[in-house]
Amino acid sequence: MALKVCKFGGTSMADGNVMSRVKKIIESDSDRRVVVVSAPGKRYSDDIKITDVLYRCCDEVEKTGEAPSFNIIRTRFTSIVKELNLDFDIKYVLDETERRIAEEKSTDFTASRGEYLCARVMAKLLGAKFIDAEEVIFFKENGIFDGEKSYTAISRAVEGEELCVLPGFYGCGSDGKVKTFSRGGSDISGAIAARAVNATLYENWTDVSGFYACDPRIVTAPKVINSLSYKELRELSYMGANVLHSESIFPVRKANIPIQIKNTFRPDDAGTLILPSVYYKPSGRIITGIAGKKDFTVIFIEKSLMNSEIGFIRKVLSVLEDYDIPIEHIPSGIDTMSLVIESSRLTNGVLEEVLQGIKKAVDPDVIRVTENIALIATVGHGMSSSVGTSARLFKAMADAKINVKMIDQGSSELNIIVGVKNEDCERCINAIYHEFFR
Ligand code: ASP
Repeated sequence: MALKVCKFGGTSMADGNVMSRVKKIIESDSDRRVVVVSAPGKRYSDDIKITDVLYRCCDEVEKTGEAPSFNIIRTRFTSIVKELNLDFDIKYVLDETERRIAEEKSTDFTASRGEYLCARVMAKLLGAKFIDAEEVIFFKENGIFDGEKSYTAISRAVEGEELCVLPGFYGCGSDGKVKTFSRGGSDISGAIAARAVNATLYENWTDVSGFYACDPRIVTAPKVINSLSYKELRELSYMGANVLHSESIFPVRKANIPIQIKNTFRPDDAGTLILPSVYYKPSGRIITGIAGKKDFTVIFIEKSLMNSEIGFIRKVLSVLEDYDIPIEHIPSGIDTMSLVIESSRLTNGVLEEVLQGIKKAVDPDVIRVTENIALIATVGHGMSSSVGTSARLFKAMADAKINVKMIDQGSSELNIIVGVKNEDCERCINAIYHEFFR
């Protein structure tokens, strides 16, 4: 039997009017049986997100013991309940929440209340069972999500129910107190619920009609990707394409559950389907998407006969390990290697110390640093079976007079990554997009 878990983001919960749309969407398909919600988001561009107000409340409670900004929360939820014409004592729930915020004095508890209140209202609106995430999503002592315990608790809570609403973003820490995921974490909660109930589909409802082939702020009206694989999604989101929280992929990917991105404001648009490898069929297209990220530093190292010096790379990498610095890419030649690192990891004199450490560890002939590098990933399974993809990509860059600072083609032939100057990033994405999509 089909069972869909649908997660609705902040803009889909922004006010009573949109919540009524959401109710229609849910009720139009009886397979939609578990609903996960975020806190109300912005209603217009300079509006404020409920979660941001709650973080402000945390600061206020810490400084003065009281949270005057809670009034914004009060007004917003009171008007939502009014717009929906619901017979629901929101005043009582808000009073209780305000009291607990002052009592708990916990950032995670306070921040989680947007989702909590929103789920209470949605459950009432839908006549559905409210399941508190605090009782079914658990974290281990080391702060990591506890899958085994949570999946069992969620499936038990949902059993025999026609429709359930679960607040996203938080769960219960090993100390029994509310603990949140990182920002945008309701996507993760949705994926966890989908895995727990063995859903046939995880629908993620947002305010865009899917995943674009590249950032619409960089390329005007890029194509929406109809379907892509989990691997392609991972590559693109890692490089900055953010529709879904990057960690939300893992629970559903393991269980081979597809994700569909849908638009609450245009529910008939097909959206984007993200498929596990077992279901993924090549579409005939060469490139799926292009994404870029700025502000990397490249450390170039040269030493004659590097290739025959056993342990050379290990010694270099152990310097980075000592400083707890992750490395994004390691393009290499016979006598050369480069380390591509996020620049933010090398501030406050760390870069100098790392360079000294490498000099001491391997005594290179040359060590050189290039900063302000952007990485651009061109991603697509289609690349592996099509001849001349990189030739087209580099010709497009050459025609746009963009200098290539670094090249790295993943061994899976799923991506080609180029490094360019930060200031060439947008032009480069445009050039590649137009070569393959227009
Ligand atoms: N409300 C939380 C945030 O703003 C979580 C979410 O929206 O997914 O980060």
